[in-house]
Amino acid sequence: MSVTVVETIAELRAALEGRTVALVPTMGALHDGHLALVNRAAELADTVVVSIFVNPLQFGPNEDLDKYPRTLADDLVKLDAAGVEFVFAPSVDEMYPTGPSQTRVTAGQVGTLFEGRSRPGHFDGMLTVVAKLLGIVRPASVLFGQKDAQQVFLVQRMVADLDVATSVEVVPTVREQNGLALSSRNRYLDEREKRAALALSTALEAAQSSGDRGIDAVLAAAQSVLMGENLVRLDYLSVVNPATFLPVDDDYRGRARVLIAARVGETRLIDNELIHLGG
Ligand code: AMP
Repeated sequence: MSVTVVETIAELRAALEGRTVALVPTMGALHDGHLALVNRAAELADTVVVSIFVNPLQFGPNEDLDKYPRTLADDLVKLDAAGVEFVFAPSVDEMYPTGPSQTRVTAGQVGTLFEGRSRPGHFDGMLTVVAKLLGIVRPASVLFGQKDAQQVFLVQRMVADLDVATSVEVVPTVREQNGLALSSRNRYLDEREKRAALALSTALEAAQSSGDRGIDAVLAAAQSVLMGENLVRLDYLSVVNPATFLPVDDDYRGRARVLIAARVGETRLIDNELIHLGG
């Protein structure tokens, strides 16, 4: 294997000295969605760094931190095949040597909505680790997937608000042929649940094709798909203005993003799609 695994901040900084870097932050358990980010990163910079770090700061007390899939050996094979030069895989102690960091980035109002409402503190933890990774790697570009739309919005906001010298690149959601958005958590699903999980992408398609009939029709179309699947328990379904990430008013017209979070069995999944609200 020619990929170099670096576990310490000092070694990574030394290895990257003088290079132009594109960074792909991940929590590992890599799939083709992550690899789409890696491939785009290779177009943007000569040196690609993929970080693999399951960040305790962004998991709530009752979430799947301990259970989150850790598949480093498999991940390295995939990243090596994709031509990645450096993998940064620090320990929790390396990232938080004095315990959970006292200084945090706070996500603000949008950080308390949707994923933030279901997962209090999640976005502060996510932004804090992303800020640390940007400080460690100092990449010219950093890549995120549209699959995590609220994360993308908040990272873009942080980079603008804190004048971080990097370009945030967003990569479209990679899906299975049947529409299911790839996710590290899909591996928790059994066959029945996997079929039921298709309701999320099907609901988004229904929402998309109802856009011309206005917001109520969009919500009704998505809801009827989600309600039709009894293994799916909806957490939230909302339509937001892409510029503010706040729910749209009834008279809003133009581009909007439909957000869905749902539990399928014990597994919590999210998905989203851009629509055009007319009518
Ligand atoms: P994670 O390891 O789940 O934290 O994800 C790392 C990065 O991969 C994030 O920027 C995600 O948005 C992105 N990602 C995850 N799933 C997909 C997907 N299906 N398509 C595109 N990007 C994805």
